[in-house]
Amino acid sequence: MTKIVNHWIGGKTAEGASGTYGPVTNPATGEVTTKVAFASVEEVDAAVAAAKEAFLSWGQSSLAQRTAVLFRFRALLDAHRDEIAELITAEHGKVHSDALGEVARGLEIVDLACGINVQLKGELSTQVASRVDVASIRQPLGVVAGITPFNFPAMVPMWMFPLAIACGNTFVLKPSEKDPSASIRLAELLAEAGLPDGVFNVVHGDKVAVDRLLAHPDVKAVSFVGSTPIARYIHTTASANGKRVQALGGAKNHMLVLPDADLDAAADAAVSAAYGSAGERCMAISAVVAVGAIGDELVEKIRERAEKIKIGPGDDPASEMGPLITKAHRDKVASYVAGAADEGAEVVLDGTGHTVEGYEDGHWIGISLLDKVPTDAKAYQDEIFGPVLCVLRTETYEEALEIVNASPFGNGTAIFTRDGGAARRFQLEVEAGMVGVNVPIPVPVGYHSFGGWKDSLFGDHHIYGNDGTHFYTRGKVVTTRWPDPADAPTGVDLGFPRNH
Ligand code: NAD
Repeated sequence: MTKIVNHWIGGKTAEGASGTYGPVTNPATGEVTTKVAFASVEEVDAAVAAAKEAFLSWGQSSLAQRTAVLFRFRALLDAHRDEIAELITAEHGKVHSDALGEVARGLEIVDLACGINVQLKGELSTQVASRVDVASIRQPLGVVAGITPFNFPAMVPMWMFPLAIACGNTFVLKPSEKDPSASIRLAELLAEAGLPDGVFNVVHGDKVAVDRLLAHPDVKAVSFVGSTPIARYIHTTASANGKRVQALGGAKNHMLVLPDADLDAAADAAVSAAYGSAGERCMAISAVVAVGAIGDELVEKIRERAEKIKIGPGDDPASEMGPLITKAHRDKVASYVAGAADEGAEVVLDGTGHTVEGYEDGHWIGISLLDKVPTDAKAYQDEIFGPVLCVLRTETYEEALEIVNASPFGNGTAIFTRDGGAARRFQLEVEAGMVGVNVPIPVPVGYHSFGGWKDSLFGDHHIYGNDGTHFYTRGKVVTTRWPDPADAPTGVDLGFPRNH
């Protein structure tokens, strides 16, 4: 029997009333295992109404009450890591260990949210003028929405809701319709942790649900993570509707390898970061820029390692890389490899046509490695989001930097070198939001914010960390005077008040 995933509204399951469902496929078998309800405008309105009602008390609750719920949620999440990872693998396809890593990185933000009392400490200046004190405080916004991509069905929602609700907001999540089950399990665990009904809601669906969230007058802020065209659309539309927006988009992440780098370490890092999660990571390395004479040796070291990657279903402990999310996406990824030679690239490894015995209907593709890729090739210019690594060659650091900075994307980047001066120069000169020095996937820890530059992020807040708390709260400044009974009356003064 096909499993059905419903919405979660007001603290309980809400069966799809629109009658529209989408298919959820196990990417390893190609089998449709689940139907997910797609929300109508009315169903989104019901979720926002539940969140608005819950805000009346949650927004007034004490920090102690909120953090108590988050600590209990953290314990439950910790205890259910494996179960959530299994849900992710069954619908996304990534291998179990990778799915566990995703849960762990989401849990880091819950850790941060458990300490929200420290982050929400306001500022107080006493005696700014005679008997006058000034306090700056931050208060929640109200109902906030999160719209998330398929590639991290547990972690990316957790980049958003733990901090949002810790700050006193209530939340409506619209997860990816391709792998919706993890979000519902998170909702159940939040309820078990004692989160009041309506503080966290999930509506599934497509553009209908998203567009209603973007237009709804009671939604005060929108956090989005997904592809660049949709991120740009979300930012433009929600901003025009007067909402606060952070919209994180796609990426093409470069890794520079300087001639003095440890080439074995660089090759290990390039292979892990390019092919992990089958390249379906916004922080995947998709372009290596080999500087100077090391190019041939580096490509050979990458090839040797990449060829050994074991491809198979994510629930098989022997698998290191799983399938892609859909057949259509697999075919699109394959088309970049098929066209690469005509675009002037050397195809070192061609992963198209790969199958896995016993899983012939899965969305498989093998490892592809393209060398000497020209910068005008589509394989270089587009975000492929698959296990395809492009290598570009330059003579100098300056040429390599120019390539990175000419990219419209600016999510993450990395430099591999033993030269501290060169690494320092790169940190300052590169146009990207996250930089790794001998670290290929520099995803910041929870207490530092995550975000790209250029077409990788629209809006002025990065996600989680201090930026997250700032995004989910608004400032208020209170100026107070308690006159002493002995003070002489000030009398009427129409001049602009001056502090003295
Ligand atoms: P996507 O943009 O297709 O979908 C993201 C969300 O938007 C989903 O919930 C989807 O239902 C919704 N959506 C899709 N089309 C829409 C439309 N026309 N109108 C309104 N809503 C729409 O992205 P995806 O394929 O799920 O995820 C992969 C992309 O996400 C990649 O580009 C990847 O780089 C990016 N990503 C970025 C980050 C980051 O931190 N910058 C993190 C993860 C993923």
